[in-house]
Amino acid sequence: MSDNKMENVSIKERAKQLKAVRSILRGEEVQKTVMVGYEGKKQKQGDIESPLTSIMQKIRMPWFCPECKKVMKSKLDDKFWRMMGHCFNCQVDIENKKRIEGTYEEWAQEKVLKNKLSFIKNALEEIDGFINTPLPVFWNQTAADGQTMDKEEWTADMTALKEKGEDAKKLWTDELKKTEKELNSLFIDGELHDKN
Ligand SMILES: [Zn+2]
Repeated sequence: MSDNKMENVSIKERAKQLKAVRSILRGEEVQKTVMVGYEGKKQKQGDIESPLTSIMQKIRMPWFCPECKKVMKSKLDDKFWRMMGHCFNCQVDIENKKRIEGTYEEWAQEKVLKNKLSFIKNALEEIDGFINTPLPVFWNQTAADGQTMDKEEWTADMTALKEKGEDAKKLWTDELKKTEKELNSLFIDGELHDKN
């Protein structure tokens, strides 16, 4: 079953996937336009965003903040409503409250680490997808007769890359564990540390 999963992935998609994995191997962030899912299921890449953000982007900002019921009109309101589901002032209030409680830094750190985790998980998915993809074969028509197709296999290149992919997978998995540990250390009994 797992073998024919990739059948619907076109060569173009595989080339894109290859490019993405190369970027990952170079440690660059990847534009998530790569076909990761199968059977035409496209996974969105790009900025790492919460499910809330992607839902909110499709909806127009309401007139009133759902939390404080005040009118939302500024660009900042729009931005924070999309990210957090409330207006800019509500966000300032929340952050002030965290500062007073002494949990602001841990709270901010938590957000950073969670972003990092989703990036790592995306990278690992990319690498897995790549490692499990059959080697592509390209047919090029370059012969002078205008008909003969030349078969081009990327075997050597791809095999080396797949090995690199395995190495990268190990590195990212270590990083994943480290980040998860760091994130867990922010909490005591499920609550963020209170510095006060
Ligand atoms: Zn508000």
